[in-house]
Amino acid sequence: HSEEEQTEDYLFKIVLIGDSAVGKSNLLARFARNEFYPNSKSTIGVEFQTQKINIEGKEVKAQIWDTAGQERFRAVTSAYYRGAVGALLVYDISRRQTFESIGRWLNELHTHSDMNVVTVLVGNKSDLKDAREVTTDDGKTLAEAQGLFFMETSALDSSNVALAFQTVVTEIYNILS
Ligand code: GDP
Ligand code: MG
Repeated sequence: HSEEEQTEDYLFKIVLIGDSAVGKSNLLARFARNEFYPNSKSTIGVEFQTQKINIEGKEVKAQIWDTAGQERFRAVTSAYYRGAVGALLVYDISRRQTFESIGRWLNELHTHSDMNVVTVLVGNKSDLKDAREVTTDDGKTLAEAQGLFFMETSALDSSNVALAFQTVVTEIYNILS
């Protein structure tokens, strides 16, 4: 292995999925650029963003895909999922409906990608404590039933955002190495 080859050893495609306005684009903006958009429209998403993550001394590249808002029309294409080895399945803890949609997103994920895709269930907007409609226990219970990792995040105050991405990348790495 030349030095150049070694840095190219790991490139993981990770997809962000979940209902419109749950905070997918802002989770990526917070993680990749430490930015937050208080009034973002769903168009701020880029196609994908590549982030370098260090795991056990190895450089892993996470290619994180964001939708361009097409989830509003339930029109996320199979190309979006193709080759994905990880997924962040996001709902908004302040909107119950987005949690009720998780089953549909899981079906779609498993239809279009490998059954073994490493998936983290993410309850975003944990800063909205007074508006909470989904308890932490609800999230945990669903994650356990479906064999998913679970955490609550806030793209607004940054809590657990890096951890969510690091978890999916580390678990993929552990499976593949
Ligand atoms: P997407 O459609 O899933 O990509 O959602 P966006 O990232 O565009 O976010 C939708 C709206 O929710 C925007 O107004 C964001 O500012 C807001 N938002 C995103 N994440 C959070 C969060 O963690 N906390 C709060 N309070 N608002 C958030
Ligand atoms: Mg978006």
